[in-house]
Amino acid sequence: MVIMTTASSHSFEPVLARIAEEIERTPGRGRPADYIPALAACDPRRFGMAVAELDGTVYGVGDWREPFSTQSITKVFTLALDLAREGDALWEHVGREPSGNPFNSLVQLEYENGIPRNPFINAGALVVTDRLQTRSSDASGELLAFLRAESGNPALDFDQDVAASESAHGDRNAALAHFMASYGNIDNPVPVLLDQYFRQCSVMASCADLALAIGFLARHGIRADGDRLLSQSQAKQVNAVMLTCGTYDAAGDFAYRVGLPGKSGVGGGIIAVVPGRCTLCVWSPGLDERGNSVAGVAALDRFTTLTGLSVF
Ligand code: GLU
Repeated sequence: MVIMTTASSHSFEPVLARIAEEIERTPGRGRPADYIPALAACDPRRFGMAVAELDGTVYGVGDWREPFSTQSITKVFTLALDLAREGDALWEHVGREPSGNPFNSLVQLEYENGIPRNPFINAGALVVTDRLQTRSSDASGELLAFLRAESGNPALDFDQDVAASESAHGDRNAALAHFMASYGNIDNPVPVLLDQYFRQCSVMASCADLALAIGFLARHGIRADGDRLLSQSQAKQVNAVMLTCGTYDAAGDFAYRVGLPGKSGVGGGIIAVVPGRCTLCVWSPGLDERGNSVAGVAALDRFTTLTGLSVF
């Protein structure tokens, strides 16, 4: 018997073109995040998608080279950078269970003594950035250097206006940080941590940049230059936490539809990993009610359906 697979080794371009065409014809894109003006101003009809192979070959369609606000997507990178430095000790300070609550919720923290459920809700990401800050003394700088190196794009940068705007609307993140500090789960002064976190969220990058930058998770922990960032087992762990906690309070639905580890951000981007095969990034700023890009999830759903490339 000959087993046929649609997961061929040739160019991803035809499948990307087909997905872009389907998305173009689909009405209803959701609404851009409106908690800061820079995000609210985005056109929900924008759409881009990129696929990167393990060797750094990258394919794209639509606005795939347009920089957008990465926001919570950066939480995957700070998690990997901190895990690489401190290993399992991190898990004494943050859990790895889905929260079942909105990403910026305070309630669960009190029941659970200041230990956030996972590294991808805001409380958990603040803990990770705090720990990376302690170890590197410039968490957001380390993140930016890593993204530049892995994407091969030295022009990647923070957006100072977005960072300032996050800060001006940052009362809830400040509350989360102070609350965890009261349990002894934050090392750095809260203003220092918040400054780092808001800078982190403000990084601008394109689908091409992010698909390349997340390649180490498809290469089982190996960076673009061949150096190892994470052990194979740590790369598996990060992928697993993305699958179960990476798309806000909709990770079950995302796993059902897409079948890949993924992480979304309120800027409308989503990264996804096919371990051992390729990485993806899709961007469209219109969000659904749970904070995930409407066209982004739809496009990833079509990609795994059309190619058969998923972890299941
Ligand atoms: N800067 C946002 C916040 O901390 C990130 C939100 C997100 O992308 O989930 O509120």
